[in-house]
Amino acid sequence: MPVAAYMRLCLTHPRYGYYINRDPLGAGGDFITSPEISQMFGELIGLWIAAVWRQMGAPENLRLIELGPGRGTLLHDALRATKVVGGFRDALVLHLVEISPALREIQERRLEPIGAPILWHDKLEDVPGGPSIIVANEFIDALPVHQAVKAADGWHERVVAVTAEDNLVFDTARDPLPFFEASMPRALRQAPLGSIYEWRADNIALELGRRTREEGAALIIDYGHAHSGMGDTLQAVARHSFTDPLRAPGTADLTAHVDFEALAQCAETMGARIHGPIRQRDLFLRLGIEQRAAALKAGAPQERAAEIEMALARLMAGGALGMGELFKAIAIAAPKLGPLPGFETAP
Ligand code: SAH
Repeated sequence: MPVAAYMRLCLTHPRYGYYINRDPLGAGGDFITSPEISQMFGELIGLWIAAVWRQMGAPENLRLIELGPGRGTLLHDALRATKVVGGFRDALVLHLVEISPALREIQERRLEPIGAPILWHDKLEDVPGGPSIIVANEFIDALPVHQAVKAADGWHERVVAVTAEDNLVFDTARDPLPFFEASMPRALRQAPLGSIYEWRADNIALELGRRTREEGAALIIDYGHAHSGMGDTLQAVARHSFTDPLRAPGTADLTAHVDFEALAQCAETMGARIHGPIRQRDLFLRLGIEQRAAALKAGAPQERAAEIEMALARLMAGGALGMGELFKAIAIAAPKLGPLPGFETAP
């Protein structure tokens, strides 16, 4: 089966899928994400959302949509930080796009006390139209990715096969993919033999563009590359370390980098305006994370102040351990909104 089909089964099979039965997040789980590292992440995104809501003319009914909300921490922090924004919380209906029954339960417990109506959906297409702000952190990396390998006779889809001994192995489909190279970005057509090219075939980018082009905005944060390129980025993570993606299917988180150039192009063809991508570090610097950290530290005991400092470093640092550079932010919005907070000086 194609790598994308394998990834979809591993993550979302109704019985054995990785996301279906468990809460994978946090120290006791498999991986940790920015909202779980620090409350500052959700708080500053909350202020971004409220500012964009005002730019939209402060509509009385706003669909606040989160894709893959995990434990609900981002929205929890975002809505606490925006309590003081007049009229904002009363305008909200929360729409959570979440496939995992286990995580839906955690989200409900976490967000219900806020008092805003909450609706859950399997897919973004199921959320009704109207003025919307969409946020997603580490959601798109979990959507299935296709891979193709370049050979002398063209590009062949990369597949997962079963050997005679019942082991899973990577292989390539016998026949090349028709018209494949002609549909690739021009700069990539010179790639050497053996190169691997990845793409997502779902409609999420189109849907983000379609939903936001009239009266909305989306803020997408994830790890990936600003420009389309070659390379195999499929990875499996369990218990906070990398593992073999073909081992023990359904027990590890499988992800692949987000190709922000492809995402932007698709959303733009639907008539939305693209802001960024910029590095996570640059977005949060412009949103005032350093001031927020200083304010939190000022009232905190020494140990807590050190924790805040470490969390800040983790969110902002470059290199393999930090999330400041590998993670990027892109906004997709109605062109009439003009520049968006944090993206003002971005190309
Ligand atoms: N945004 C959260 C969680 C990231 S983990 C955070 O930053 O902490 C990925 C999230 O997306 C989980 O909530 C997972 O259950 C959800 N998810 C993964 N694939 C999905 C799919 N195909 N449809 C809907 N939700 C999905």
